Amino acid sequence: GKGMSDQEYFSSYEDVQIHRLMVGDSPRTQAYADAINKNKHLFEGKVAMDVGAGTGILSLLMAAAGAKKVYAVEASGTAALIERVARDNGFSDVIQVFHDRVENIKLPGGDDEKVDVLVSEWMGFYLLHESMLNSVICARERFLSDDGTVFPSEASIFACPCSLHTLYREQINFWDNVYGFNMSAVRDYALKSKLTKPEVHDVTESDLLAEPTCVKKFNLRWVTEEEIQLFSTTTFVGITRPGAYQGLCLWFECSFDGRQYNEEGEELGTVITLSTSPSSPPTHWKQTVVVFGYSSENTSQQLPTTTPPAASVEKNGQHDKNVNTNKFPTRTDKINEEKVNTCQK
Ligand code: SAH
Repeated sequence: GKGMSDQEYFSSYEDVQIHRLMVGDSPRTQAYADAINKNKHLFEGKVAMDVGAGTGILSLLMAAAGAKKVYAVEASGTAALIERVARDNGFSDVIQVFHDRVENIKLPGGDDEKVDVLVSEWMGFYLLHESMLNSVICARERFLSDDGTVFPSEASIFACPCSLHTLYREQINFWDNVYGFNMSAVRDYALKSKLTKPEVHDVTESDLLAEPTCVKKFNLRWVTEEEIQLFSTTTFVGITRPGAYQGLCLWFECSFDGRQYNEEGEELGTVITLSTSPSSPPTHWKQTVVVFGYSSENTSQQLPTTTPPAASVEKNGQHDKNVNTNKFPTRTDKINEEKVNTCQK
């Protein structure tokens, strides 16, 4: 395949800029902080695992929330940094770092040792693009206790027909008139290049032409590798707002459901949601757009005579690698088909 090798993949996470981008993405990091701090009952005195700990932020949050042990598992070289970060924050007794793939580690208590809670930030563009969800499922099967919790606990993919005014203005129609010259040949070429792959892009709420539709929902406590490998959904959406129908916008939402009843029958904890929709605060995931081939803002004569593509939303997990990564190379390089990804169970 054309993807990265295992080593290239993990070296890409040694670039501190990627971690700055993720940790500095406040809707993202704040959602994890809230999920942990507003559900302390899941962490106090408990054993936790941070799958793909990066620079250790989620491990620190769990340790600060009272976890008695946090296994911070990180395959890239940043594992050495977590060691020091843990020490500098007084958690060297709590946070134990594993510099390895989660697929390979062995816990100190042997095969019988289980963790109470498994936390990971594994999400890729429109959720599954190059995501590391397989590794999280492997960790869950190997290490999570029967009544354990997975955070996030649920993840959904959304789709919505949209206009792409900004994209057309800046990247396509730009070529119609360049210094007084007609460069529409380049315009057609630019448009063509957009049709082959989805791409990461900011879409504004006003560009959406319908109510968003949830096309897939995963319960992360139970989802299997097979269920994420290949799936397709058919959903019908009615366009409800006027505007040029130029593409399909995709994004995801995650929730952290920490609700539980204690012995007295009182409900503890809460649900925290992280949304990457166009109407939510922007995140580094932005949105993903599938651009249709209409070449004008005025699409009245150019609407297809057959069923519009967005009326039938089909998503195939195996086609994820076709996302255009030109605009956002950092976090796109998350998984490739050559990666040896065998779960030891
Ligand atoms: N938890 C951190 C980093 C998230 S990015 C944070 O929230 O900021 C995902 C991290 O998972 C990367 O650092 C990557 O190197 C690591 N990773 C991906 N697959 C892994 C695997 N199978 N085993 C261990 N670490 C993995």
